[in-house]
Amino acid sequence: MSESDYIEVKQLLNSPKNIVIVPHKNPDGDAIGASLAMYYFLKKKGHSVKVVTPNDYPNFLKWLPGAGEADYKFDMQNKQSKREINNAEIIFILDFNTLNRVGDDMQNTLEAYEGTYIMIDHHQQPDDFAKYTYSDVSICSTCQMVYHFIANLNELELIDKTIATCLYTGIMTDTGSFRFRSTTSTTHKIIADLIDKGADNAHIHNQVYDTNSYGRLQLLGRALSNLEVIKELKTAYITLTQNELNEFDFEKGDTEGVVNYALSLKGIVFAAIFIEDTDQEIIKISFRSKGTFSVNQFAREHFNGGGHDNAAGGRTTLTLKETVAKFEAILPQYKKQLQNSYEV
Ligand code: 5GP
Ligand code: MN
Repeated sequence: MSESDYIEVKQLLNSPKNIVIVPHKNPDGDAIGASLAMYYFLKKKGHSVKVVTPNDYPNFLKWLPGAGEADYKFDMQNKQSKREINNAEIIFILDFNTLNRVGDDMQNTLEAYEGTYIMIDHHQQPDDFAKYTYSDVSICSTCQMVYHFIANLNELELIDKTIATCLYTGIMTDTGSFRFRSTTSTTHKIIADLIDKGADNAHIHNQVYDTNSYGRLQLLGRALSNLEVIKELKTAYITLTQNELNEFDFEKGDTEGVVNYALSLKGIVFAAIFIEDTDQEIIKISFRSKGTFSVNQFAREHFNGGGHDNAAGGRTTLTLKETVAKFEAILPQYKKQLQNSYEV
């Protein structure tokens, strides 16, 4: 967004509007954190605001301020969601950049929308449908971008404990607790400011990371025992069948972060997890990498997905076995890149 864009957006937001905020499907901490932070910021400015999520989000995010009150779930509260979207004068698109990331039904509704879109996102290759696009793939999280957005509107003083808590959560989850390469000194300065503004860091970490159910830990145990390593390609992957998920009373969010255990193996630069979903009849895949090997490109080319250079996702309609076979068949063509990919 240019300086003149900010002047226009500032003007737009200076009188009360009906505003809807949309995160991507299966929203994560960054998507929900950014949406709720923006919700409270816009409410403070006198707007009528609703968050419309494509579907539900995991329990470890439901303690966030406003969760469940600020939002409608498009799949479960379809009528209300459509009414909000159709009445909106502005729609914020947060933490995604192509409308097919919200799922078919909601995509149709958003494609028919004729009002003003404002996109704030850090994923690669944004589509060009928004009137105002703030895209920066170098920034660790959409939550950090929302902070910059508010700073550029000269309204940092509106960030209170509630907004700070939401932004802290998204920056924390998208940076793997401030450890990924995208975490910069600016990130830490913003985090310091959010703590000064009231974010309770120890409490937030506890709410997100130390609220595991027994089933989730047992499922993690199974995932780890399913771990396969292809040493010569510096690759490790995990599979989970629907039966295994059922066995451990799977709940949304239980598999979040499991792929990182595969990436934590010494010498591994590429990790994947393949999760069977018999409801949707798909295999959902998460890819992670270290160094220069781009999983965004890999997911785009072979698995109908995308994301960032070091964290991406995709899907197939093959069986789990066929998906893994496809993955193993493709890998050798990346042998050189995998062997040369390392943390610099
Ligand atoms: P996760 O593996 O945690 O689901 O997603 C990792 C990253 O890849 C996230 O930034 C997410 O937005 C992106 N991503 C996950 N699945 C897909 C997908 O199917 N398509 C695209 N374009 N991006 C995805
Ligand atoms: Mn994000």
